[in-house]
Amino acid sequence: MNIGIVGLGLIGGSLGLDLRACGYRVLGVSRQQLTCQRAIERGIVDDASIDLKLLATADVVFVCTPIAAITIIVQQLIPHLGDQTVITDVGSTKKAVVEAITPLWSNFVGGHPMAGTEESGIDAALSNLFANKPYLLTPIETTPPDAVKMVEKLVRSLTTKVYICSPEDHDRAVAWISHLPVMVSHSLIDACTRETNPMVLQLAQAMASSGFRDTTRVGGGNPELGMMMARYNKHSLLRSLGAYRQSLDQIIELVEQEDWQALTAKLQHGKCQRAEFLDSKKKYV
Ligand code: NAP
Repeated sequence: MNIGIVGLGLIGGSLGLDLRACGYRVLGVSRQQLTCQRAIERGIVDDASIDLKLLATADVVFVCTPIAAITIIVQQLIPHLGDQTVITDVGSTKKAVVEAITPLWSNFVGGHPMAGTEESGIDAALSNLFANKPYLLTPIETTPPDAVKMVEKLVRSLTTKVYICSPEDHDRAVAWISHLPVMVSHSLIDACTRETNPMVLQLAQAMASSGFRDTTRVGGGNPELGMMMARYNKHSLLRSLGAYRQSLDQIIELVEQEDWQALTAKLQHGKCQRAEFLDSKKKYV
């Protein structure tokens, strides 16, 4: 089977490495010639080009560009594809993408691997990035079941945990566990750097250890990706940010009132909530 990948960056490059390791022939298209050369050198693809024509023989095409480019790429890709080709994408938001592409190409299955790093570009591509990670597929009523099966089979071959849901549910859920954390993590770094005493700021930096590193990691990622999350999932992100602001306001109030008992109870409740939220035995059905 021939697999096409458009956008040879962190996600597209990592998919190429793993799909090739599974024995598929991988054809890559990217914007820059240099990226295409690098993809061949690194063994990410069997062949690469800046011309979408290369994907004429692809059975399945993964569109792995920034979200804003996905629809344009699909429009440019369609004249080169056979009728049966399945298109899927990896964009971090789904409703807008699925709504834009389904009328253009019925054999389209929205997808989103829940894996990444703070890095971007072809040199950030890693083997096994998706292993044991959730991979969301968001078919709608009109999505052909065979197209869903085809994409599901491919992404399962990367040992991902596949979940199927609507684009709307995807966007609302991902706002809580991915898009809100990016904004909160950014705000944490932003707030710390507002310390006005340079000596205290340096001391804080010297003391910052694994806990601070963990809580600020996602805020230090690709800024373009963070902006796209907000732009294409505005409604759900604002809803999650509003709930977060309420929770922060409650904490501020308890500290101002020196209500240590209520604060302890709130933190205790949060500790239990965290364990329950992250309980891997809880299955999505
Ligand atoms: P990335 O590392 O910046 O890779 C995107 C690549 O797309 C760039 O390297 C660029 O390649 C190429 N590109 C940009 N515009 C293009 C165009 N018009 N035509 C062809 N290629 C183009 O970004 P990424 O993190 O892999 O993200 C890609 C997609 O994955 C996004 O839709 C994002 O929402 C989704 N996603 C990201 C993560 C994450 O954590 N990073 C996780 C899950 C899903 P050149 O070098 O050739 O310019």
